[in-house]
Order: sequence, then structure tokens, then C-alpha cells
Amino acid sequence: MTATTTAQRERILLSTPDVGPLEERAVADAVRSGWVAPLGPFVDAFEERVAERCGRRHAVALSSGTAALHLALLEVGAGPGSVVVVPTLTFAATANAAVYTGAEPVFVDCDAGSGNLDPELLEQALATLRRNGERVAAVVPVDLLGRCADYERLLPVCERYGVPVVSDAAESLGARRGSRPAGAHGLAAAVSFNGNKIMTTSGGGMLLTDDAALAQRARYLSTQARQPAVHYEHTEVGYNYRLSNVLAALGLAQLSRLDEMIARRRRLRERYAALVDAVPGVRVFQRAGDDADNCWLTAVLVDPAEAGWSAEDLRAALDADDIESRPLWKPMHQQPVFAGARSFLDGTSDRLFATGLTLPSGSALTDDQVDAVEGSLRGFLGRHR
Ligand SMILES: *Cc1c(COP(=O)(O)O)cnc(C)c1O
Repeated sequence: MTATTTAQRERILLSTPDVGPLEERAVADAVRSGWVAPLGPFVDAFEERVAERCGRRHAVALSSGTAALHLALLEVGAGPGSVVVVPTLTFAATANAAVYTGAEPVFVDCDAGSGNLDPELLEQALATLRRNGERVAAVVPVDLLGRCADYERLLPVCERYGVPVVSDAAESLGARRGSRPAGAHGLAAAVSFNGNKIMTTSGGGMLLTDDAALAQRARYLSTQARQPAVHYEHTEVGYNYRLSNVLAALGLAQLSRLDEMIARRRRLRERYAALVDAVPGVRVFQRAGDDADNCWLTAVLVDPAEAGWSAEDLRAALDADDIESRPLWKPMHQQPVFAGARSFLDGTSDRLFATGLTLPSGSALTDDQVDAVEGSLRGFLGRHR
């Protein structure tokens, strides 16, 4: 046997960082420049480029997308005694950011086709909260798996109730909704450059807004709320949330490859669709109208009654072939940490969680790895016909 046939194949993961020589050079350049701090020319340039890409006037580079959400929520006055409306189908960071401010997260269910915040349920939630005389500090729509939320319908609802929108665009950088890019919706938006996202700075995020005062205050709060005095004067409590100049250099390199990385993820989705489209009871999630999405993660939805097998059966089969797949985000209203939280539900997120499975979607997957996933999936489908 040759070395290649006996070599252990590495486990194939859902979404790993797609970095190479360009990123390596960028990081080395930043280190050599001497700006190894949470400020510097790469931070400024990165903010400018992301603002431009997202159609925003201002961008503040931060240590994470969660930090961006936290600061945006503080800016709109979220705090003890207020409520922040969050979709239940999201990553915990969206709800956690609300809790950091002292506000109470209230969860709202999603639309079945996109998995994004349902405008009608949102309206019901806001009407109920208003009747109760509660102060709603913000609504935080999430662009699930890289599909922008339905802002054309969500924004007018929020406007009618006088509630500001903070868009959680952590998963959707590079996507569009109508003529507007992800990150351009609402009073402010948060993007993420975590290691598993469409592009990465290993860890990082950005707050985007057209409001100069909001951006300036976020910048101030993110640097320990330091007053402009040589002796470090502080009149309020701040945070250490700025992004390192070294990581901003990495981000600039990644941003120059964003479109290429999106195209690769889209091709992967198309291959999955070609495999499952003819399988009864199985379809690719968010497939309708996905040309404006960034295809961050591709998931399939499995109706076990029709397919004769479940998403969990497929997950176990892929796992046996050393291929990672995962259910969609477990809804927040099902999470022990948010037990007892108020929710406006219609069963959609529960159903998506029970039937959805995210497949390896990373742009760094090699052709061999993609072939291996496809082979495993094809084998499973063949055995379950
Ligand atoms: C990743 C993610 C975040 C948090 O971003 P970090 O940079 O990891 O802090 C927030 N919301 C959603 C929906 C995410 O997927």
C-alpha cells in the first residue's frame, strides 16, 4: 500500500478559515510596520473598505461581532427595564448582547422559507409589548446563514412602533437585499469576522452605521471610554473592544477575496442541490431566490415522513465518514439559559431545527474534500432509496 492510501484523511469540517499566502503576507507586513496595537493604518483602511462594501458612511472595527451588537444596543438605550426583540432562530450571541446591556430578550419566530424574523409575528409581538406599556429598545433581525432578513417588510413595522433596528449581519457579509448590501439595513448593523464566518480576521467584527454620532460614541466606548486628556480621564465605564491592526491587515486581504470565496460557496450549494433536488422529502434550505445570498452555510431540510429517513440519520452517516454536519441553530426559546423568556412562536423554528442539517460549506474545502462529501452523501442516498 502506498502512503496516500493509508494516510488518514483529516476530518472535513463545516466552515474553516480560507487563508493562504496573501493573508500571511498581510500579517507579516503589519507586524513589520510596527503597528502591533488595536489601532493603526490597517484598522483605518479596513474600516473604510468594509463601510464602502456595505454602503455605510461609518464603520468601527471591533474585537467581535458580539461586541458590535453590544455597543449598538447600548447606543439605542437598551438597558435594565427595556426589552430587545430577537429572532429565536439565531446564534446565542444575538441574545447575549441584549442581556449584557441589562435588557430582556424577547424571542420571535421565523418565516419558513428563509428562517428569518417573521414580520407578522414581529408586529404581534410589538403590539403586545406596547399594550403592556413596555419599552422596546431595539429589534435585531438576523440574516440567517447569509440570507438577508426581509427588511422591506420589517423596517416599516419597526418604524410604526418607533423602535430602532439593529441588523445582525454577522453571517451575511457580501449578501444583498434588493439594492442594498447586507450591513446597510437599520440604524446600525453588526458584522462578524469570526473564524467560521464567510471571511475572517480569526476573531473580530465591525459596527456599521450612517450616524456619525453613533459611530463616534461606539469608538469611544470601545476604547475604555477615555476622555481626551493626557492623564486618562473617565466619566463612564467603557470596554476594551477594538480590533488589532494585525488582524485588520488579515481582514483587508480576506476582503479582497470575498467575492471569490462567495462564488466557491455558491458552487458547493449548487452541487448539493443537484444531488438532493430529485430526492423526495429533501430540499436545500433558502434555495428560492438565493442569488443575492452569500451562501455562507448550505443546509438541507429533510421531511422524514416523505424521505423515509431523518436529518439525524444523515448526520450520523456523514459523521461515520469523518464529515462534520450540524443541525441549524437551536432556537433560543429551547435553550436552558433562556428558559422562561417570553416568546412569540408559531412552531416554524422548532420544525426547522428538527429537520435541518448544515453541510460542509467552506470555501477552503479542497476538490478532494468536496468529492469525499459528495461521495458520502451519494452513498447514503443510494442506500436509502
Ligand atoms: C457569529 C455570529 C455572531 C457573533 O459574532 P462573533 O464575531 O463570533 O462575536 C452574532 N450573531 C450571529 C447570528 C452569528 O452567527
